[in-house]
Amino acid sequence: MRKRLSRRHLLKISAALPFMSGLARGASAATQPQARVRLGDPEWPSEASWNQLDHDVGGRLIKVRSPLADCVGGSPDASCEQLFKELKNPYYLGDEVGLTQSLGWVGAWTSEPSVYAVAAKTTQDVVAAVNFARTNNLRLVVKGGGHSYQGTSNAADSLLIWTRHMNAITTHDAFVGAGCAASAQPQPAVSIEPGGIWGHAYNEVAVKAGRYVQGGGCLTVGVAGLVLGGGFGSWSKAYGLAGANLIEAEVVTADGEVRIANACSNPDLFWALKGGGGGFGVVTRVTLLTHALPEFLGGVFATIKASSDEAYRRLISKIMEFYAQALFNPHWGEQLGFAPDGVLSIFMVLQGLDQQQAEATWRPFFDWVSASGQDFSIVSAPRIISEPARRFWDPAALKTAPGLVISDDRPGAPADNIFWASNLGEAGRVWHAYQSAWLPQSLLAGDQRERLAEALFAAAKHRGVSLHFNKGLAGATADAIAAARDTAMNPAVADAFALAISGAGGPPAYPDVPGHEPDAAVAQSEAEAVGKSMDEIRKLLPRVGSYVWETDYFQPHWQEAFWGVNYDRLLAVKGKYDPDGLFFLHHGVGSEDWSADGFTRLN
Ligand SMILES: Cc1cc2nc3c(=O)[nH]c(=O)nc-3n(C[C@H](O)[C@H](O)[C@H](O)COP(=O)(O)OP(=O)(O)OC[C@H]3O[C@@H](n4cnc5c(N)ncnc54)[C@H](O)[C@@H]3O)c2cc1C
Repeated sequence: MRKRLSRRHLLKISAALPFMSGLARGASAATQPQARVRLGDPEWPSEASWNQLDHDVGGRLIKVRSPLADCVGGSPDASCEQLFKELKNPYYLGDEVGLTQSLGWVGAWTSEPSVYAVAAKTTQDVVAAVNFARTNNLRLVVKGGGHSYQGTSNAADSLLIWTRHMNAITTHDAFVGAGCAASAQPQPAVSIEPGGIWGHAYNEVAVKAGRYVQGGGCLTVGVAGLVLGGGFGSWSKAYGLAGANLIEAEVVTADGEVRIANACSNPDLFWALKGGGGGFGVVTRVTLLTHALPEFLGGVFATIKASSDEAYRRLISKIMEFYAQALFNPHWGEQLGFAPDGVLSIFMVLQGLDQQQAEATWRPFFDWVSASGQDFSIVSAPRIISEPARRFWDPAALKTAPGLVISDDRPGAPADNIFWASNLGEAGRVWHAYQSAWLPQSLLAGDQRERLAEALFAAAKHRGVSLHFNKGLAGATADAIAAARDTAMNPAVADAFALAISGAGGPPAYPDVPGHEPDAAVAQSEAEAVGKSMDEIRKLLPRVGSYVWETDYFQPHWQEAFWGVNYDRLLAVKGKYDPDGLFFLHHGVGSEDWSADGFTRLN
């Protein structure tokens, strides 16, 4: 088991690093804050202090009230029923300062509004908020797209920096990082403010400018938030991690300084931002490489049901053989899902293949299924689509395809506010469980593949499990793999052919809202099933690595699972730029020094 890293350990690492001297401007150990101030404490800032902050941020300080507050403890009424409908709209959730995209995780966290929020418009607003939180010793949280599964963008009794309205997107033909003119060639890039969401970024970069930027699959995830965890898109095997495409960031660190982080300035901070999971400062701009847009993007979708356990085993074995032989390359990403009832869901995407090439690739597999007679039934017939890439994220084009996207239905909502119908289930979700594990590419070879197929069969008996092939970089281009190795993510990502995920959750729910309370009994039984399912997968693995942004709230040995050998280096960067733990996050770097709620120092 990994040794617990205490503050003493951190100081020891720090002392060994020459760059620490003079840079860590936190309080000395004797004067370090031992507990953050809560609302109601005598040290809570006065009304006059809050008014001063409001003045400093141009009137953009908000006293936060959650729309759910009116429904808590009341009797069900029409306005609460309407609210619970709106909780299925990710744009509504994103625009509400007091809400988050997930409403909680049973037994782990519940979405709680901050007391105040700075609705930042400028970097100077962020500086004022950081300085205010530090000098008043407040719990500080940062929220962009609000999609954290771990609840790390909300906290009761806190001050929130809300970046939603800092969302400008600027494309560059030839970007050179500050201070890098002598060492770097100009590169095509895009600068995005931290509240930007990926759907809007794709619209600007791909649809309007005809370039490719590596972001996430879900259109409403925040740009900065995704990058900070490393970030996978559907075609990460071709274009790499979102974090590895970062060429520069502007960051407000805990001392209130505005810093540029790139390969030439603050390179240690730059590295930590690429997959370190946040907690190093507030990112106020990211600049990401753009790539030539492939000619075609598309996907292959089908659902097949096996008629017996024996047939299901053969189906799993065949699809994994087919994956290893035909799809384990930069053209293919996304998922295969294995459900308990013998159902295989194919939800794969492609890049750089035309319609004929895509059909030819899959013909042997679908011919095999057809030839197997009674063993399999087709629940949904194969759909193979390859389209000119520029149409792929075009809201106008997407809206013409039945059932593919859903529009933000609020009156006056921008026409470009769309989201994939496949993400509807995650809007307003209350999680019961979520676990993930990277699968090394050795499992695709020889008789190891049969072990893998057997483990998938056994896992699926407990609870559905999916393989997300785009969330492991084995099989990717050499450039994508090399760039991934130069990030703070667990190096296991570079050797993994997929991330296995199993999860469970319920519809929007909130404690003490009559008729809409989370279902604790269902949550417990589903959590047990997910645990058993993933145990079957983990039996295959000598070490468990897990993706920090898509993982178990209760992940054991999380330092090693998320960051592997990179953890000590991350801890040193944390000690240098945030020595007093202002940017506390659940299972964030250095969080072992704090109580679970981030209010009380333990070491
Ligand atoms: C429906 C859904 C789909 C997803 N799809 C993908 C996917 O395809 N690929 C993938 O890799 N991940 C995916 N994720 C995971 C997602 O990348 C993370 O949840 C990510 O952290 C969300 O960023 P956000 O800004 O939306 O969330 P937030 O909750 O606002 O932020 C997440 C974390 O980042 C921190 N943070 C946000 N902005 C800043 C900033 N400017 N400066 C400093 N810290 C900041 C927050 O404090 C918080 O700890 C998905 C999540 C959901 C819910």
